[in-house]
Amino acid sequence: MRKTKIVITVGPATSSFEMIKKLILKGVNVFRLNFSHGDHDTHLESIKTIRQVSKELKKEVAILQDISGPKVRIGDIDGVLQLTKGDTIKLTKEDSDNRLSLKLSYPRIIDMVNIGEEVFFADGTIQTVVIHKDKDYLELKLLNSGELTSRKGVNFPKTKLKISAITNKDRKDIAFGAKNGIDIVALSFVQNREDILNAKAIMKAYKFTPFIVSKIETGEAINNLDDILDLSDGVMVARGDLGAEFGVTKLPRIQKRIISIANGRNKPTITATQMLTSMKDNPFPTRAEVSDIANAVYDGTDAVMLSDETTVGKFPIEAVKVLHDTIKDVEKDYPYFKSFNTLNKADAVSKSAVELAKNLDKEALVSFTLSGMSAQTLSKYRPKQSIYAISHSLETHRKLSLVWGVNPLFMMDKVINPTRLIYDFVQKILEEEYATMESRFIITMGAVTGELGSTNFIRLLNREGMEAILASEF
Ligand code: PEP
Repeated sequence: MRKTKIVITVGPATSSFEMIKKLILKGVNVFRLNFSHGDHDTHLESIKTIRQVSKELKKEVAILQDISGPKVRIGDIDGVLQLTKGDTIKLTKEDSDNRLSLKLSYPRIIDMVNIGEEVFFADGTIQTVVIHKDKDYLELKLLNSGELTSRKGVNFPKTKLKISAITNKDRKDIAFGAKNGIDIVALSFVQNREDILNAKAIMKAYKFTPFIVSKIETGEAINNLDDILDLSDGVMVARGDLGAEFGVTKLPRIQKRIISIANGRNKPTITATQMLTSMKDNPFPTRAEVSDIANAVYDGTDAVMLSDETTVGKFPIEAVKVLHDTIKDVEKDYPYFKSFNTLNKADAVSKSAVELAKNLDKEALVSFTLSGMSAQTLSKYRPKQSIYAISHSLETHRKLSLVWGVNPLFMMDKVINPTRLIYDFVQKILEEEYATMESRFIITMGAVTGELGSTNFIRLLNREGMEAILASEF
């Protein structure tokens, strides 16, 4: 089994039943629906198709809803606006007939930006600095030449933007996600704790408890990374906007830093954007793209993600195969058995179980897990062996699709008695031929099973142990 997971974005190139089926068979673990594009009807169709195929193939996958957040954009431009280094343009609150005055989608931002701060357009390809500020506009000097077209994104790398990460559209999208059984929600342009607390409050109203992935895409989010990690289940290294904010040459160091901190905090990471851009039009990747995938895996990412390659690209299946093959090759000499500080008692138990796995070598790890956290905590220490997660919760089962090395093997009914639980497990793995009597396991669970955060039990199971368990009477 491949340990680093694959997330793909669904779009016109991949939304059909046949394509989703091919993608699941190729090993896609998580399907991302990008709510910056498409309407609710289209996304609902995709959800239904993914669930239907997954049921047919008896393979659970997770669905990730990426809500758009307050992406700042300029308004419409007639044709192409040619810009020359040294010239000036204006950002305005109101529409204007002047082609060099551009209206912002969030006019209030003009009040928050100061003279001397930078403003970047179109993924950072046009860079400017504020040289004059008025109550209704900002005057910007162009630091390079280039061209702009309608609705391009705007980044303010050095400015504290006091705008909520949750827009009215996001509220409606969250309500849609709650209604349609979304497993993971990615929050765009999260800047601080309040943004996540706001999102959670909206979700709570719908009794919606998805895995929350905060997209790290602004300087403010990097400054507040610890706070954001406290409240998130995972993070995305959103290299598109991060590259626009910081410049692309700073991205590798930022990526490594985010992943390393998140790994230590036991928060799964997704590395996203432009992993295989050339495969939008070509059946083969560049050497540099393959190295980028490999480096993200070596950095410790839980998952790698495709965007345009699978939404509108000509070779989505081939792109997934390149991800799969590259990851599999890297995993031949991956730096397994990583060392981190433990965060709590259950974490210490997981660390010991992985240490045992390191010393014993052949044993697969098994986690009986309610929320998925104890399987995730085994994953934190990156064991070389498989981690089989067994849960009675379908939501947990699906969410674990995102977590490095975790194989949500099958679901089992809720059982309180630990011996009975192991009995049921042994019967099922033998019956369904996941294992034989020669297989060996390291089992972790809570002595009072089914209680959140209660993992306090490690058991080695081999032939003798399985025979004894199977001879038990219930
Ligand atoms: C990104 O910025 O890298 C990203 C994944 O976000 P989006 O696709 O929403 O721009």
